[in-house]
Amino acid sequence: MRLIKSVAEMQKWAVKNGRDCGIVPTLGSLHEGHASLIKKARSENGLVVVSVFVNPLQFKRDKFLAYPRNLREDMALAKKAGADVLFAPSADDMYKNDFESQIVLPKMFKTLAHQGLEWHYRGVLAVVMKLFQIILPARAYFGLKDPHQLALIERMVADLNVPVKIRRCETIREKSGLARSSRNALLTAEERKAATVIYKSLELAKARLRKNGHGNLRGVMSEMKKLIHAEKTARVEHIEIVDPASFLPFDKKSKEALVFTAVNVGGKRLTDNLRFTLPVSPRN
Ligand code: AMP
Repeated sequence: MRLIKSVAEMQKWAVKNGRDCGIVPTLGSLHEGHASLIKKARSENGLVVVSVFVNPLQFKRDKFLAYPRNLREDMALAKKAGADVLFAPSADDMYKNDFESQIVLPKMFKTLAHQGLEWHYRGVLAVVMKLFQIILPARAYFGLKDPHQLALIERMVADLNVPVKIRRCETIREKSGLARSSRNALLTAEERKAATVIYKSLELAKARLRKNGHGNLRGVMSEMKKLIHAEKTARVEHIEIVDPASFLPFDKKSKEALVFTAVNVGGKRLTDNLRFTLPVSPRN
């Protein structure tokens, strides 16, 4: 596996090899979730590029500085999962010449605006678009673990005719149900145990929605909150139940539900979600 740190060198490689490659964009601190994306890319492409880049445009400064960085371990994991190139540019090299251009978020993602997260996702879209232009891949792999990010990228690619196929990848979990995340490394043993309540709350919502249909979303959310708050280190930051086709609130016309939650566990923001269909019933 080759390590490329300069944007110019990556572009040189891409002119020759880009159209035969799949990319897996990451923030690094790689784990089994990332490995599953890399393996999927490996099975569908002649060449696989994994990017490791902590993107300053999508973090507040303190979180940017605190984000875990382990390039050596990332290289070992990426290589083992089947990557041909690991692209790890510096922030200065990525954002030269007073970088300013922005991609505006589609209106459909109102819930992100309500949470004050528009700036974060604009940063995500900017870096993903730059990676597409630098590496020129045929396919790109993203996790359903980050459903808003995935939907925004799919929308950007469709709206702007970006010639990259977006491949969705399932969320990889620990046996306890806790979704694998780079942030899990920051949890104490006790917090890790408490964090398993997140997936349990999603399962609870799924069971309730499947039983009761589209009614009483508030009741479902408040039950989730109660369950999560039974863990003293866990505090709900956000819960939403939307139709994943539109990201509008889940209603009678929705065939699928996406329950998303962001939970603060001991100061670490963990997110997870569950997407499922509802059985058609006379109640719906
Ligand atoms: P990140 O480094 O957290 O930005 O993640 C890079 C990519 O890996 C994103 O497309 C994520 O959605 C995906 N990802 C992160 N965690 C998981 C997981 N537990 N299972 C599957 N994909 C994941």
